[in-house]
Amino acid sequence: MHYKDYKSLLSNKNGINIYRGCTHGCIYCDSRSTCYQMNHSFTDIEIKKDSYKILDYELSKKRKPVMIGTGSMTDPYLHLEKELEYTKRCLEVIHKHHCGVSIQTKSDLILRDIELLNKINKDSKCVVEITLTTSDDNLCKIIEPNVCETSKRVEILKNVMN
Ligand code: SF4
Repeated sequence: MHYKDYKSLLSNKNGINIYRGCTHGCIYCDSRSTCYQMNHSFTDIEIKKDSYKILDYELSKKRKPVMIGTGSMTDPYLHLEKELEYTKRCLEVIHKHHCGVSIQTKSDLILRDIELLNKINKDSKCVVEITLTTSDDNLCKIIEPNVCETSKRVEILKNVMN
């Protein structure tokens, strides 16, 4: 992994990618495509340095709360998120500014932040999208080798809906 300085985090449509690259290893992943102009190995994760501070600044400039989207290019719950907590800190910033959030992930690490996600949902809106590629856990381990299998993801959805 390596850090990189960024001046902005929010896209024009209020999307954020806190990391660049991914270690989940899905065999069908198209985020590795050269069209995304990544100048480092896909599994050498680039961390957008102080992204939560940049987000705090950018949201403070908004005239009203917005819905933030994350997870379209890189899963926000990569293994390194467990220690770095950049996604968690961005969620705290989103909550601070009364914004909503839509998260796409395949990882059960999202359960760590369930309390915070519930708070955001009560205050604004929180949408969690979990990819279910196959109902066969053994096949899942082959095609998405470095992230939890489907049965665990179904458990996540049950937790999120409670
Ligand atoms: S989780 Fe998404 S970005 Fe990561 S390897 Fe799988 S398809 Fe690619």
